[in-house]
Amino acid sequence: MLIGCPKEIKPQEFRVGMTPDTVREAVHHGHSVLVETGAGEGAGFADADYVDAGGEIVATAEEVFERAELIVKVKEPQPVERKRLRAGQVLFTYLHLAPDPEQTRDLIASGVTAIAYETVTDAQGGLPLLAPMSEVAGKLAPQMGAWALEKVNGGRGVLLGGVPGVAPARVVVIGGGVVGTNAARVAAGMGAEVTVLDRSIPRLRHLDEAFGGRLRTRHSNRAVTAELVQTADLVIGAVLIPGAAAPKLVSRAQLADMKPGAVLVDVAIDQGGCFETSRPTTHADPIFVVDGIVHYCVANMPGAVPRTSTIALTNATLPFILAIADKGWRKACEDDPHLLDGLNVHAGHLTNYEVGKAQGLDV
Ligand code: NAD
Repeated sequence: MLIGCPKEIKPQEFRVGMTPDTVREAVHHGHSVLVETGAGEGAGFADADYVDAGGEIVATAEEVFERAELIVKVKEPQPVERKRLRAGQVLFTYLHLAPDPEQTRDLIASGVTAIAYETVTDAQGGLPLLAPMSEVAGKLAPQMGAWALEKVNGGRGVLLGGVPGVAPARVVVIGGGVVGTNAARVAAGMGAEVTVLDRSIPRLRHLDEAFGGRLRTRHSNRAVTAELVQTADLVIGAVLIPGAAAPKLVSRAQLADMKPGAVLVDVAIDQGGCFETSRPTTHADPIFVVDGIVHYCVANMPGAVPRTSTIALTNATLPFILAIADKGWRKACEDDPHLLDGLNVHAGHLTNYEVGKAQGLDV
């Protein structure tokens, strides 16, 4: 199959859909890969690396879209890219269609077969193509929190790990899923005193077993959250209620009870945020202060480390790319119900129930 990998054009997006290593695997499977010149630049992959891997560099995105049977991307196609999609072509990328009727309309009109990373499932009920980005965001959260705690950034001037004779920072992680577990691991590794809250007892049990005495777990409720937030240096918001906006777990009034210069890192900001005072920020201007509390609310945290994020994402997407290319999308989806869960649009029809429900469309 002829696979195409265009350069991402969404502002601030430096990831790329295929690395030279994934191109090499596809070529080994007998496929050809077209890569738009400069596609890997933001993630540190040169055109020459793709050529070494057996890919063909092409000068324009138009050529990639015109020739390729399978388009592999990272972000949802932008309006100019949507005009280039056609019936019979397969698009494999993040789509996030539920809140995006305009994109949904364009994909339906194009006739393309669109498989969305975020709705592909696994046998454990997880989302294997979202998890790597949650791992990245979780590991980044204490790193960003530690930076925001520095005095020049408005923070309390506290070092996460302390030093001999000085107590470490207190870190509270609300939500012990993929983001929260990774955040807790890094914060504990940096020497902080870490407490993880979750409303799921099995999650807390798992964390307790996995981390032994290196962190504390508490059942999440209003009273416990209020108690812990008051004495925290850094609070990391990592909750998710699938398909719903994040619940507001720290109110504006509670900021007055916190230590001045304490930091809130709201990883759940892409679902609206779990602190009342959160609003989305960008890597260019990541923090703001409300009532003396520093907020970090970047909605695409993995974008800060596009090389790691690209490799993590493509490690997870590669088996699906190969299945689609080897068997054709139809047989690949027949053989794998988890890949079938990723099918959102096909031949002028919406095929994802949740997206249809969100937009009042027939599926
Ligand atoms: P997850 O489903 O693995 O974990 C969420 C956890 O939150 C679950 O364990 C759940 O029990 C817990 N939870 C739900 N309500 C709670 C409450 N009231 N109190 C305490 N815990 C509660 O999800 P995840 O992959 O860890 O993602 C967490 C959030 O991070 C999501 O909103 C996701 O979209 C977001 N995210 C953001 C970025 C970014 O760049 N900002 C990147 C990746 C993920």
